[in-house]
Amino acid sequence: MPFSYVSHLYCPKCKKEYSPKEKHQLCECGSPLLVAYDLERLKDNLTPEAVQSREPNLWRYHELLPVEDPEKVISLGEGMTPLIKMSKLGKEMNIPNLYMKDEGIIPTGSFKARGAAVGVSKAKELGVEQLAMPTNGNAGAAWSLYSSRADIKATVVMPKDAPVIARNECAVAGELEGSFICPEGAATFLAARRLREEGWIKENETVVALNTGLGVKYPNMVDIEVPVLERNGSLTKK
Ligand SMILES: [Zn+2]
Repeated sequence: MPFSYVSHLYCPKCKKEYSPKEKHQLCECGSPLLVAYDLERLKDNLTPEAVQSREPNLWRYHELLPVEDPEKVISLGEGMTPLIKMSKLGKEMNIPNLYMKDEGIIPTGSFKARGAAVGVSKAKELGVEQLAMPTNGNAGAAWSLYSSRADIKATVVMPKDAPVIARNECAVAGELEGSFICPEGAATFLAARRLREEGWIKENETVVALNTGLGVKYPNMVDIEVPVLERNGSLTKK
């Protein structure tokens, strides 16, 4: 059974089709491309029960994601998030069945992590070494973090007045390997480095560092210079 049932890319406007095994940007008509899957074939090979029996994360739906080689999956544990009943608020609003889907607990603290996990994994599979994107904030944070994990160079451009937290997340992502960028997490890794240097931690020992926060928890504590793209095209440090 294939890992992915992706069949092709297609343009929703002019219907032109493209191979999912090559890099594409937009359709030649300028429209974004969509992904098509061989659902008829998948129908014979997959049941809802089989999906439910898998690990509860995004990649349990791999047949319906475009990455064809499981080795190319870049994951930071993005996945299932809780549906929480908001009883008090619901009562106050006279909506007795009010729920919140809490997407704030996935890597980088936004639902954009899902798209970034899949997009960066596919880019890796296609041999992409660099990517660039415009953003207003949290998509950039997600894409830069996953790109860092995948060893893909990411250039993220956002307005100067974008939230400091998103700007700092993008800026520090390149130097880190995962989502451990809160001060406590950084301190834990610093401690591990020191303990290894001093011989307290042996080479063959497994070390698990506990990160107690998600994303840049205190953005003002990250002292980092972010280049500003001026109107004339030059980059200045501010
Ligand atoms: Zn088109």
